[in-house]
Amino acid sequence: MANDTVVDTGALISWPISKLIGSIASPKQKKELGKFYPERLEIINAIDIIWRTPKLESINNVINIGKNTGDIAGLSPVDIELLALAFENNYVLFTDDYRMQNLAEFIGIKWYVIETEGIKEVWSWEIVCKGCKKIQPDPKSPLMRKNLGDCRDCGSEVKLRRKK
Ligand SMILES: [Zn+2]
Repeated sequence: MANDTVVDTGALISWPISKLIGSIASPKQKKELGKFYPERLEIINAIDIIWRTPKLESINNVINIGKNTGDIAGLSPVDIELLALAFENNYVLFTDDYRMQNLAEFIGIKWYVIETEGIKEVWSWEIVCKGCKKIQPDPKSPLMRKNLGDCRDCGSEVKLRRKK
């Protein structure tokens, strides 16, 4: 794999070793592996994986966006770190976790599945005014999505809501 690939623990466990070389992962995953797959960790430790911790700012960004999309409750600290790594470095994320895929899609992180068929349905969002209930124009960039602003019509606070 190229050096711009973040792998979740499922990939660390199931991918052929040759495919994992050069991948990026969180040091927290070592603990996970050590606990549940100690023999696999020995192999993983012997190959060239880039263990990297994301910046606190990126972690907080992912948490805030996850709160908005409603995905945060299903994400572990490891999941959040992997999303933050992909987010801050523009890496590609490999995961079979639907919530991670969903949040990655929303943030604008490119993602691929590890082995399943992947996300069945990508949720989409709309921004709605808490005051006049009017639907607001969809911000195109992830940066704009972090700061949704106020209603264009009445100036009230807006919120993100999942499209039905
Ligand atoms: Zn309004």
